Amino acid sequence: MDKRERFTGLNSIKFTVRFHEDEACYKYLSDIKWENGYVCKKCQNTVYCIGVKPHSRRCIKCGYDESSTSGTMFDKSKVPIHIAFHIVFRLCTKKKGMSSLELASEFEQRQKTCWEFKWKVQQAMSSNLKYPLTGEVHVDECYIGGEEIQKRRRSKGKKKLVIVALENVSFNGVGRAYAQIIEDAYNNSFRPFFEDHISKDAVISTDGWTGYSPLKKDYPYLKQILSNSGKSHPDMHIHIMNLKGWLRGIHHHCSSERMQGYLDEYHFRYNRRNNMETIFDTLLKRMVKYDPKRINTRE
Ligand SMILES: [Zn+2]
Repeated sequence: MDKRERFTGLNSIKFTVRFHEDEACYKYLSDIKWENGYVCKKCQNTVYCIGVKPHSRRCIKCGYDESSTSGTMFDKSKVPIHIAFHIVFRLCTKKKGMSSLELASEFEQRQKTCWEFKWKVQQAMSSNLKYPLTGEVHVDECYIGGEEIQKRRRSKGKKKLVIVALENVSFNGVGRAYAQIIEDAYNNSFRPFFEDHISKDAVISTDGWTGYSPLKKDYPYLKQILSNSGKSHPDMHIHIMNLKGWLRGIHHHCSSERMQGYLDEYHFRYNRRNNMETIFDTLLKRMVKYDPKRINTRE
């Protein structure tokens, strides 16, 4: 089996040369889709011939013709495929991403179309939950949107309560991070985030809030340190400031569900900031393999 030719790097000229028309994009999708071999979805036969659409495959036994986009996030997309590829490239390689308004003007698409497509990309940017944070991890909550009047209440209207976890790496400061909207600041809301994103043997530090205390049973290295208005964890303070600054610049009002998409988008890029070579291929691969309706579901 031929090894597929992955696109690597951040060079937008090389990207444009390679994906200047739909054909190259369909090939890329097809190569990812069947990189482990072809199996007919209807009858499990493994022999195919060329199908009707570009790079589709037709089962020689039952005649089922599967396109390279079917069952992927590119299926029934209103955006032409090579423009969709360019949007994905921009969203993962530009440091601050791009708003749907910017995408609409750059690619001459309707803003709503870009907004809907970007939502799919953001879902592919959510963590695959395979690599929880390890080592030293700091956890804190903050409010995003609206005023930060009192700590530790509930997400209310525009104001969303967000839990953030940040790895502390001794050799270069901070490592990876994740953030999630939570209903309130109690154990039951914290727990799913901990289970998804933090390793059981991580050395976790939080402030003195009692909501964290029940987690010590499952996270034996969790330590609570009395709060010093964020001064004891300057890296976390900077991380939250940067996240809020980016959100302010890129969107105004959005639902909890959309807000989670922005948090995932931010951290997808953030967690790969020192390893950008394969970011496009990683994201594209997820868009092929993830269910197009992957909302709040696990891989
Ligand atoms: Zn078949």
